[in-house]
Amino acid sequence: MEEKKKSDIAILLGYAGKYKILTFLGLALSGIAMFLGMLPYICIWLVARDLIAVAPNWTLATGVQKYGWMAFVFAVVGILVYFAALMCTHLAAFRTASNIRKQGMAHLMEAPLGFFDSNASGLLRNRLDGAASETETLLAHNLADIVGSIVMFVGMIVLMFVFDWRMGASCLLAAVVSVAAMFTMMGGKNAQLMHEYQAAQDYMSKAGTEYVRGIPVVKVFQQTVYSFKAFKDAIEDYSQKAEHYAIKVCRVPQSVNLTATEGAFIFLVPAAVLIAPGALKDGNFAGFVTNFAFYAVFSAIVSTALARIMFATNGIMLASSAIKRIDQVMGAPTLKVTDDPKEPKDNSIEFKDVSFTYEGADIPAIDHVSFRVEPGQTVALVGPSGGGKTTAASLIPRFWDATSGAVYVGGVDVREMDPHVLMDRIAFVFQNNRLFKASIFENVRAAKPGATREEVQTALDAAQCGDILAKLPNGMDTVIGTAGVYLSGGEQQRVALARAILKDAPIVILDEATAFADPENEALIQKAFATLTKGKTVIMIAHRLSTVVSTGKIIVLDEGKTVEEGSHETLKQKNGMYSHMWADYNQAVNWRISAGEAM
Ligand code: ADP
Ligand code: MG
Repeated sequence: MEEKKKSDIAILLGYAGKYKILTFLGLALSGIAMFLGMLPYICIWLVARDLIAVAPNWTLATGVQKYGWMAFVFAVVGILVYFAALMCTHLAAFRTASNIRKQGMAHLMEAPLGFFDSNASGLLRNRLDGAASETETLLAHNLADIVGSIVMFVGMIVLMFVFDWRMGASCLLAAVVSVAAMFTMMGGKNAQLMHEYQAAQDYMSKAGTEYVRGIPVVKVFQQTVYSFKAFKDAIEDYSQKAEHYAIKVCRVPQSVNLTATEGAFIFLVPAAVLIAPGALKDGNFAGFVTNFAFYAVFSAIVSTALARIMFATNGIMLASSAIKRIDQVMGAPTLKVTDDPKEPKDNSIEFKDVSFTYEGADIPAIDHVSFRVEPGQTVALVGPSGGGKTTAASLIPRFWDATSGAVYVGGVDVREMDPHVLMDRIAFVFQNNRLFKASIFENVRAAKPGATREEVQTALDAAQCGDILAKLPNGMDTVIGTAGVYLSGGEQQRVALARAILKDAPIVILDEATAFADPENEALIQKAFATLTKGKTVIMIAHRLSTVVSTGKIIVLDEGKTVEEGSHETLKQKNGMYSHMWADYNQAVNWRISAGEAM
């Protein structure tokens, strides 16, 4: 456990970069401040000694004023140095947190786009941000306090021998009892219980998030009690674990700990009572009273230092869990960028024995797939849902990298190209195109940042977006996502098509939406498709087979494998998967038409 704590701190200091030196400076100053803070107590001892020596002729005591001033100066300087120490550690802590945020974001920028499908980028950012803040307390306060406490312990041991070891030891005993009590709560076999309790807390907060996320589904399906169960179980589990940990593990040691911390003085009184007779006999009663006065005052410092250690352990725990979350972000996969990029020769696309397995999946989503799309050719990918069409298409712009085999664009492995060159060449319209919370103009122009309003307008026209713009209050300057501005799935797809048209890239990848809500949208989208794909190398993922009838090459993907390949006519004759899909499709279309007639 000790080992792990050290490494957590080392990890954090790693993020501190050149500000690490400030942390160390702050820690050193904190130690010095603690040392200075202890000196006034010695002054008090000196004052007490002088006074007792001349008692009851107080006026004879000459050093009192001097020692008083010294105590004052030490105390003030100690506070100032502690201020300086905290200034250093705070600066370092803020810089470290900001470095964590920067490095985390930089790392996420290198993650493949596909990674953000399963990990919402906003959520990742929040997690990183929260974790970074949680490291601040440890670096800004807790480490400095730990160093201070260590200095205090050392000082205490020294003072214990300097004045009266028996009374010193009784003060130290309070500290030892308190630390031992803390360890009972958090170390040994109870560490496991504490982790269980923390895990239950984590789980409860996750279950809460899930529950809130699931509310729409709950409302639609009216599953009130059922859906609540997981969350309720999590809460009950947490409350049971928390209660167990608090009562069975913490009640006694925490009481002991608080008693020892707050009442270090208690240990001193019996010690003094035992020592007093001996001191009387030796005739050194004045010395005894002086020492007692010193330790009585000094015991207050023990409580402060122990309370700091308590907070420090809490800070270490917080930081350790924060580091785990930071590591998750830093552990996100990254796309490797080649040092020696090659230029693609043409606009062909080729899959050579490509396999791809999603992280955590048992079976590959793409399984030894090979095919070629000539420059200017259109190839359709069809097949049952989950067959791997979207996955195959997302390997081309490197949303993911193939697990084995390679994807070539213009004869060059996509991993050996400059990612910008690759991206410039490809325009894609995916099913889950997300529009930004920005104006339609900005949304479309994202494809070509330098485009003029006229160019954007032309692209929107070509994508058949006229009716959308007409109904919006500010035309293409209307911000999507603001109150009352909502686009249907089909309309969003057309804006995404406008974006792709504006980009005018030689390679087009289209993942057709599974179903357009209305035939009107469908007709418009078909028109936009035609404009977008004219003269381009096209990979089209089609769900309505009517769109692929005229396509020269159709590839049927099922369970990640190419099961059939050929033109519509050849495949229709084959009595394989495609001909069955075609029969089903026609039946559905006929059903729709006859249903329409009946109305
Ligand atoms: P299609 O587009 O043909 O419907 P997909 O390429 O979307 O098929 O999916 C192929 C397989 O990969 C499916 O089994 C699906 O569950 C899985 N899959 C798709 N996307 C992800 C993802 N982001 N993470 C994990 N598995 C995925
Ligand atoms: Mg799909």
